[in-house]
Amino acid sequence: MAELVFIGTGSGKVSLNRFHSSFLISTSRYNLLIDAGDGISKALLAGEINFSSIDGILITHLHPDHYTGLAALIVQMKMCERKKHLDIFINTKLANVIQKFIINSYLFPERMGFTINYKSYINDELFKVNNEISFIPRQNSHLAPVSGLEKYKLQSFSCSSFLLNIENKKIHYTGDIGSKDDLLLFSDNTIDYLISEVTHIKPDDILNSYPNDALPQKIILTHITDEDINNLKEFIVNLQVDLKEKFILAYDGLKIAL
Ligand SMILES: [Zn+2]
Ligand SMILES: [Zn+2]
Repeated sequence: MAELVFIGTGSGKVSLNRFHSSFLISTSRYNLLIDAGDGISKALLAGEINFSSIDGILITHLHPDHYTGLAALIVQMKMCERKKHLDIFINTKLANVIQKFIINSYLFPERMGFTINYKSYINDELFKVNNEISFIPRQNSHLAPVSGLEKYKLQSFSCSSFLLNIENKKIHYTGDIGSKDDLLLFSDNTIDYLISEVTHIKPDDILNSYPNDALPQKIILTHITDEDINNLKEFIVNLQVDLKEKFILAYDGLKIAL
């Protein structure tokens, strides 16, 4: 049976209560880590997740709370004398940046002891990790505010939301988004679980984005800023009973069986 393990549930603002946003999809055959921001190695250590158990890492976008811990985590894997290859799933538009980041961290293939397999995904194309896990990435508007600057026009502003299919359960993972409109990116599907960030949107936006009878079974709120926690708790407490049962406020270490 597959399980989600929330490694970090904080926002981009550093906190003593939460690591930056990241979760592990654990199936019988594969462990896929979603995002590896600043401090991910310590977050995994705190969550008692063995570095060697991670088969692949998927990066959603290049804000530091989502990717800058990647090289440091690979160093830890090397120190643990990892032999098993590591998959890195990255948007084809960002693949160069990530490969350079790893090489510029002096992580040379000849001295690693294990192989890194870079696997590029393309927005709107189904990507099969294996028979149990697949996903469709889709560009969202998270980086739209910074993408218009002429000076940086050669830079990629790829930032994806994901429709994950894990052992036939459909999960919409928003990743970081730009506005409530991004909640509708996969509205042509029936979603079992929604994992939504709540830094750039309000939880009310989720309720307003779905017809009441079409809300996902479970709605997990993550990417939480300390300042927002009381408002989020209050939002859930004030929901009517059937809605209250759907919402889960994520915390570091939360495990959800799918
Ligand atoms: Zn973020
Ligand atoms: Zn971001």
